[in-house]
Amino acid sequence: MPAQSRPACLSWPERSGDLPRDLPDRRALDHLLRDQFPEATGTLSPIRGGRDAADKRLKRIDAPRYAKTRNHLRGAVTELSPFIRHGVLTLAEVRDTVFDRISRRDDGVKLINELGWRDFWQRMWMDLGDDINTSQEDLKTGHDSASYARELPEDIREGHTGLACMDGFRDDLTTRGWLHNHARMWMAAYVVHWRRVHWKAGADWFLEHLLDGDPASNHLSWQWVASSFSHKPYFFNKTNLERFSDGRYCRSCSSTGSCPFEGSYEQLEDQLFAPQASIRDVPAQRRRNHQGRRSGPQSSSGGDRRRGDSNSRGNGNSRGNGSAAMARPKR
Ligand SMILES: Cc1cc2nc3c(=O)[nH]c(=O)nc-3n(C[C@H](O)[C@H](O)[C@H](O)COP(=O)(O)OP(=O)(O)OC[C@H]3O[C@@H](n4cnc5c(N)ncnc54)[C@H](O)[C@@H]3O)c2cc1C
Repeated sequence: MPAQSRPACLSWPERSGDLPRDLPDRRALDHLLRDQFPEATGTLSPIRGGRDAADKRLKRIDAPRYAKTRNHLRGAVTELSPFIRHGVLTLAEVRDTVFDRISRRDDGVKLINELGWRDFWQRMWMDLGDDINTSQEDLKTGHDSASYARELPEDIREGHTGLACMDGFRDDLTTRGWLHNHARMWMAAYVVHWRRVHWKAGADWFLEHLLDGDPASNHLSWQWVASSFSHKPYFFNKTNLERFSDGRYCRSCSSTGSCPFEGSYEQLEDQLFAPQASIRDVPAQRRRNHQGRRSGPQSSSGGDRRRGDSNSRGNGNSRGNGSAAMARPKR
């Protein structure tokens, strides 16, 4: 496929009241922001914006390695989301770059699919409008939605849960403004399922900090974890988190003896969710049979667990109208 020419830079006339655009360095930017937004706490993210930074990241795309390692915190993910979010890069441009850099079309499938999810969420947003802020379906956790706290607990917000992983993700969220997809999933599952906090409280908190913060990708992903936009809740266990974070949090965690994520998926499911006949009847025995054959659930998504069965694709009990609940693949 021929290389695409670089899109023309967008520009618009400066108007009085605009923030200055040409600053000598990052310190000047830091000063300007402190001056203009004295109520904002924290410092600048180390992640740099702009076209040059985006180009550097585009050059580093390694789609075959991405496909093999994307679930690992140290995997070859692109970190392009802030640039895509703010229009520095278009999805089409990233797609074309992927095709330019591979020799076999199949090598690009995984990454192109993920780009497709961003497009999909945007289209859902066009369809749903402000309804992305409300639960699209009933929860499949067996708990009444009124039993979920509406406020994010202070220890989560401040990073004082005592769980090295969650406090570490919180620190990355608030200082870098970016988290790996798996970390987002783990953190969202912890907030919603372990702490029984309404997904909207967590989603709003993410949006306060993410450089790639996008209402559609963010809110609908939180709903996907919570199960109000999917046919079952997403959750994980310690083995999964430890494996895909290379043990970096568990090694130094002060809660080792009381880790809430410790246990088999069956144990955690019993602990987190209320029994529901429709979910338990058929798959339960099948799950136990599987469990007997292997030490933990394995899947192309790296062993994460969706409640109920080992394949979340096309097995939903949603409204049956082609929604994400039916289509969303395991990640
Ligand atoms: C709870 C939760 C909240 C999220 N909030 C946001 C958000 O506010 N903004 C946002 O852009 N993404 C969000 N995502 C999706 C995903 O986590 C990020 O897009 C991804 O981690 C960005 O890192 P990357 O650029 O290295 O992605 P890569 O894996 O390298 O993928 C390349 C690009 O594809 C798109 N993409 C990849 N995975 C997804 C996905 N699951 N959903 C939508 N687009 C995807 C992104 O534009 C990304 O930059 C969220 C996911 C979860 C579970």
